[in-house]
This record gives sequence, C-alpha cells and structure tokens, in this order.
Amino acid sequence: MGRFFSKRLSKLLPYVPGEQPQDMQYIKLNTNESPFPPSPKVIEAIGAESGKLNLYSDPECKVLNDAIADALGVDRDMVISGNGSDEILAFCYMAFCDDETGVCYPDISYGFYPVFKDVFFLDGKAIPLTDDFRVNPADYIASGRTIFIANPNAPTGISLGLDEIEKIVKGNPDNIVVIDEAYVDFGGETAIPLTYKYENLIVVRTFSKSRNLAGARIGFAIAQKELIDELNKIKFSFNPYNEDRLAIVAGAAAMKDTEYFEKCIGEIMRVRELTVSKLKEMGFDVLPSKTNFVFAKKEGFSGETIYTELKKRGILVRHFKSERIKDFVRITIGTEEQMNAFIEKLQEIIK
Ligand SMILES: *Cc1c(COP(=O)(O)O)cnc(C)c1O
Repeated sequence: MGRFFSKRLSKLLPYVPGEQPQDMQYIKLNTNESPFPPSPKVIEAIGAESGKLNLYSDPECKVLNDAIADALGVDRDMVISGNGSDEILAFCYMAFCDDETGVCYPDISYGFYPVFKDVFFLDGKAIPLTDDFRVNPADYIASGRTIFIANPNAPTGISLGLDEIEKIVKGNPDNIVVIDEAYVDFGGETAIPLTYKYENLIVVRTFSKSRNLAGARIGFAIAQKELIDELNKIKFSFNPYNEDRLAIVAGAAAMKDTEYFEKCIGEIMRVRELTVSKLKEMGFDVLPSKTNFVFAKKEGFSGETIYTELKKRGILVRHFKSERIKDFVRITIGTEEQMNAFIEKLQEIIK
C-alpha cells in the first residue's frame, strides 16, 4: 500500500467481480447476466435520449421511479433508484448502520456485504448457513444488527418463503432488515407486500439480472416513505445525479415492456430446469435454484478443476475459493444453445 492510501482502509479487500473478458470469445455463464439483449423499446428510448446528454439527468429519476412504482403496484414515494443495486446497498449501509449495532449477513452470500462493512467501518457478523446451505430464520431473530439477506440467496440459489422473511422482519423491530431480491423474478417470493406492514423493511432490486440491463447499472429499493426519504438524504449527499439520462429512459422502457420481460424470464426458467435435469443425470449435486443460475458440484472433481477445464474449452463459469463452497461452481443460465454447449464440454471433462 502506498503511503498516501487511507490508513483506516489499509486492510480493505475489494469485491472481486466475475471475469469480464473484453474480447468476447467465451460463452459467458459467470456473472448472472441475461443472455438476451434489452427490449427493442429500450434501445429505441436510448437512441431518442442520447441527443440530450449535454444536460444533467433528472436527480429525482422521476420517469424511472414512476415506471417502477406502476409496474410493481407500490406508491410512488416508496421508490428510490440507484447506480446498480450495489449503490442502493451502499446507501443502506450509510443510512441505517451504526458503530454500536453493526451489520450481519449469511456467511455464504453476496460478496459485497462484507466489503461494505469494511468500507463503512462497521462491525460485521457472518451467520453460517445450515449444513444444507439454507438461511435459518431463527438465527436472525433479535440480532441487534442491521440485517442483509439475499433472497433468493447467491451463490446458492436457495429461496426463503415469505413467512420466513416476515419472521425475521418481525423479530427485529428496532433494526432495519434489507432483503436483496436481485433474483426474485426467477421464481422467488417477493417481500414487497410486507413493506406496507413493516416500517423496518427495505426490499432491494436490480435491472441487471431479470431486466436484461446489467450494463446500464440500475437498481432500486422499495420501502416506506420515511426510509426512502432517508436514503434520498444519503443519495443527495453523495451523488445526486446517480442515474444517467440513458439509464433512466432505458429502465423506464424496460419496466413498461412486461411482455418482453416475461418472455425472457420464462425462457430462462425453462432452460434452467432442462440444465438441472441434465446435470443430475451426469451425477451432479445441484442445489434447488429459484434464480438464473445453478450451484452444482460433482464428487471426485474440485470446483476449481471444473472451472479451469471449462475455461480451456471456451466456457466461463464462476468458482469461489472459500472453504465451504470450494467444491461447487456457479453456472449462469444462458440460452438453450449455450447450455447445450456447456453440457457437451462438461461431459468431456468428467469422462
Ligand atoms: C448481481 C447482484 C447484485 C448487484 O446488482 P447490480 O444492480 O448490478 O449492482 C446485488 N445483489 C446480489 C445478490 C446480486 O447477485
């Protein structure tokens, strides 16, 4: 570390994104993007907006937030959007965590939670998943901390039911519970209806996975107005123009094009089930997925080997080195054609 770098952050371990090779020669099943392009209506909206890029974007993101509110059936003052849900999560860390309380999250979950803990100088507690990789709601009751849970969880793909989420929210009336629903559109149960009932619940969503817009960087949160106002307080103290003009119109158009959205997620879920059954036929253990990826392992093969051998054959999946999950690989569901190519290469490897 250079002598100018913040001493307070000297031990910081940054988040490591999945590989994004810029030569595009791989079948990319490693970062849970959609294999389908954005809706044609999104592309049209961006084209029309691009001539206005000399002007700042709307700091209220009104057309985007209104489209989100309308599509999800929530009040318009219950929405805030941000530069990816990563930024929204960061706002939650800034707004709702304190030195005395700190944060908690599952030990196996989204890699950003512990990174933000360090960036914002908070005490963090990683709560172990059960042996079968589930979040046990009882472990989160009266936590005394701000809680971050991805539901469905990543990289496991496993989902909690709404009753279990409610137990956690109810069991922490003096703390904020953030439910990160990055993958909920692929078969999970959303906690949005509970936001009306509980003043301590924030639901975070993204356009990166189910709305075909990872590259546009759009995320949002749904919560009661008071919490949204407080998140806005942070946003306007940090980056008031956090969504650019193109992202605002792209997101609004994507939210309105329900037909395209449903077609894409329907296809992903169909191909997911095909992929799961082929993996099982090949002797893989596959965790039950309600997401656009599957988490799988095969006895006798390390996750590292499968990752490396697939990469040699032009296919990228994600491997995590941490002890409990090092035998697994996480495979994003691509098009049926991509998954057929993946299965073919995988068969070669395990032969
Ligand atoms: C992908 C992902 C995010 C980040 O989404 P962006 O909106 O692209 O920043 C957040 N949480 C989880 C659990 C994710 O998998």
